[in-house]
Parts: sequence; structure tokens; C-alpha cells
Amino acid sequence: MSPASVATAAYLIAAILFILSLHGLSKHETARSGVVYGIVGMTIALLATAWVTAQNAWGDPAAVTGLVLLVVAIIIGGAIGLWRARVVEMTGMPQLIALLHSFVGLAAVLVGWNGALHDEGIAPDLIGIHHAEVFIGVFIGAVTFTGSIVAYLKLSARISSKPLMLPGKNILNVGALVVFVALTVWYVITPGLWLLVVVTALALALGWHLVASIGGGDMPVVVSMLNSYSGWAAAAAGFLLDNDLLIVTGALVGSSGAYLSYIMCKAMNRSFLSVIAGGFGIEAPRKDGEEEVGEHREIDAQGVAELLTSASSVVITPGYGMAVAQAQYPVAELTSRLRERGVDVRFGIHPVAGRLPGHMNVLLAEAKVPYDIVLEMDEINDDLSDTSVVLVIGANDTVNPAAAEDPSSPIAGMPVLRVWEAENVVVFKRSMASGYAGVQNPLFFRENASMLFGDAKDRVEDILRAL
Ligand code: NDP
Repeated sequence: MSPASVATAAYLIAAILFILSLHGLSKHETARSGVVYGIVGMTIALLATAWVTAQNAWGDPAAVTGLVLLVVAIIIGGAIGLWRARVVEMTGMPQLIALLHSFVGLAAVLVGWNGALHDEGIAPDLIGIHHAEVFIGVFIGAVTFTGSIVAYLKLSARISSKPLMLPGKNILNVGALVVFVALTVWYVITPGLWLLVVVTALALALGWHLVASIGGGDMPVVVSMLNSYSGWAAAAAGFLLDNDLLIVTGALVGSSGAYLSYIMCKAMNRSFLSVIAGGFGIEAPRKDGEEEVGEHREIDAQGVAELLTSASSVVITPGYGMAVAQAQYPVAELTSRLRERGVDVRFGIHPVAGRLPGHMNVLLAEAKVPYDIVLEMDEINDDLSDTSVVLVIGANDTVNPAAAEDPSSPIAGMPVLRVWEAENVVVFKRSMASGYAGVQNPLFFRENASMLFGDAKDRVEDILRAL
């Protein structure tokens, strides 16, 4: 068997493992095995690539240097990746993921430029296709690169999460796409490096603008959309490098990311096209996000313990604040204590609660909350009106009645957990500040709502002591 056929066989096995990995990751129960399939697939892919390079390097000093560089790059990259994965906090995951997407984008740009500078040996009848691959790869890669950097900066609160509203922003985006198509045709007919410089600059600016124009409330879709872009960027690099596995893996990531974006848009009642077009058709927020719209009531831990003791049913709706406070462990303890007393306790999870899809489910699973009492928003929403007490733990946008009741709100139309329909609502947070979307929450001023101020972990522990 030639080295090339061994590599093809290994790549095929790796591709099948990646498909099994995606399948495993689609459910809590199989997520761990999904991750293992992914790790094994990637290990096989890396070993096969290193082995083929070693075979080709035999007797060729230049190729030996290439092999050494490859191994050094794998060791350095692997060590950095391992270190980051070990130290990252759960709350820091979304920005880390955004940063990793930016690397894929940058790699696609570099591979594209390399392909443009070294096109010797390409058959004359294929050179046009090669140039198109270079141009498209550089474009997708550069959009992904700067788009992911802006997403990283927004998610890590290094820049404001408010949408950038340049005048004529939609025309700018559409104009950039039209210019890209025209430049691609030009480059295929008469290639010139200056055209590649122009498209790189154009795509870098477009990626920046697309994500900067999207408001905080729509960031979940942006994260999965960039995931999809990074997949297509990898696939484009695969065509240039003539690497089948990179094409297949890139297409898997690209299509699954696009589908996830579509599901999230449906869950948030957003138009998919409007979000991927950089907030196309979404207007600037009408009013000041911090403005208070009434008087709020406060409650202490003792008061909440009394409410819970007399409750027959309790629903807990966690949000990003639970992740920040690491309150999932005392929340799990509170759940089991209440269940021992015969209280029906369930969780209501909003699809975008937290800062990445599935954030809350991961935290609750970590604290060993049974899966069968953790329900999706659609499964619990109709039961909230028959619930004695809802505990909103560090959630804000996902329980905001303005989304359902105020058509001029920036989060209008986004489905929310209708916690205000319950008999009593207790909101755990540290202040009256708005949530990630920067919108004030009228829930805090409702008659049946009380605020329990302070760090969510400390307050839940106080309740446990008072029970
Ligand atoms: P929000 O960001 O709307 O609200 C979280 C609340 O937690 C804040 O109001 C904050 O109030 C409170 N909080 C923070 N730290 C603590 C703490 N230590 N103890 C107690 N409370 C705390 O979160 P939600 O989960 O409700 O909504 C998610 C938002 O994030 C949505 O807008 C969503 O679109 C967006 N998003 C979601 C992503 C996803 O994929 N799921 C990705 C990116 C963004 P205070 O400061 O007063 O304590």
C-alpha cells in the first residue's frame, strides 16, 4: 500500500469518527463519548499527516526540515491548547471559542496567500480554479478572523456589547459582497497580488463590521455563525492543500454550525438572514437600557426560606450569574433538600441562558442535578402559572417580559421564560443593572417579584442555613 492510500484510509476513519462525535455531542448522555470520538479522530488525522510527511521526507533535506517544523508546531500548539483548556473558567469558554475560531480564519488566510505565492506546477487548465480557491479561501478566512476577534472582545467585555450603527451599514455589507464577487472574477482572469491585498483588507473590514453591528442579545447566534464560517474557511484551505480530510471536516463544522445558528435563530425568533447579514433590519435600541421603570421590593434569605417551606412547586431558572457565582453546587444542594421535603422542584432552561449554548445544562450536570428535572423553556413555560415560587438565579434577559410585551424593545420577539406568571418570583442578582442585551427588566418591578441582592452562591448558602 502506498503512503497516500494509507493516509486516505486513516483520513476516512477520522472523518467517520468526527461524524460520530457530532452525533454524540447532540445529547447530554452521549456528550462525553462524542468528545472521545473527536479526540481519537483528531489524533489519527495528526499521526497520518505526520507519517505521510515523514515518508515523503525520506532522503530530501528540505522535506526533513518541513517534518521537524510540523512536529515542533504540533508540540507548541498542543501544549498551549492543553494549558488553556485546563485553566479556562466555564464563564470564559465563549470568548475562548471565539478566539479559536479566529485562528482557523487566520490559518485559511495564510494558506491562501501561500497558495497564491507558490502556484508553480499547477496544470494550466486548472490554474483558474486554483485562483478562485485562493481568493475565496482568503476572503472567508479574513472575515472569520476579524469577526471572531470582535466576538472575543465583546464576549470578554473588552468592548461594549451594543451594536455599532454606522449610517448605511446594510449598504456597506452588501456593497462589500458585490465588490468581492467582481474582484474574484478579475483575479481569475488576470491574477495580480495587489488584488489579493485588496480582498484581504476588504474581508478584514467586513468581518469586523458584520460582528460589531450585532447587539449583545444576538451574540449566541454570532458565536455559532462564526463556528460555521471557520468550518468553511478550513474547507477552503483543504481544497488549496489538496487535503480531503480538511475538506470533509471543514464541511462538517460549516454545515453543523450553520444548522445550529438556524436553530438558535428560531429559538430567539430572529431572522437567520438578518443576523448573518450583520443585524440587517434590526433597529437601534429605542430607550436607555438602565432606566428604572418603577419600585422594586427586596427580600432576605430568611424570607425566601419561608416562601420555599410553604411552596408546593418550585421552578429554578438559572442564567449567566449562576455561572459567574459558581452557585450550581449550593443550588443542587437546595434542590435535594427541598425534594426531600416533598416539594416539586424543576429547572427551566432558556436556549441562550449563559454565554454559550448548553452553558446551564453543563453546570447543572457538573453539580449532579438529575437530568429528568432539567426542562427546556418550551417544556416548562405553560406550567409556570401553576408554580408557587420561581427562583431566578443570575438570569435577566432570558426572563424579561419586555421581549413578549414591548414591540419596541431590542429583544422584542425573543421567546422568554414567563416567570412573572408564577405566584411568587425571587430574583437573585447583585444590583439593578441590566443584563447582557443592555435592556432594563420590568420583571423586577412586578407586584409578585422580590429582589434578593448579593452574590448568588452566598445567598443560596444563606437560604440553606435558614431552611
Ligand atoms: P444576563 O446576562 O441577561 O443576566 C445575568 C445576570 O446575572 C445579570 O443581570 C447580573 O446582574 C447577574 N449576575 C452576574 N453575576 C452575578 C453573581 N455573582 N451573583 C448573582 N447574580 C449575578 O444572562 P441570561 O443568562 O439571562 O441571558 C443570557 C444573555 O447572554 C442573553 O442576552 C443572550 O442573548 C446572551 N448571550 C448568550 C449566549 C449563548 O450562547 N447562550 C452567547 C452570548 C451572549 P448583576 O450584575 O446585578 O449581578
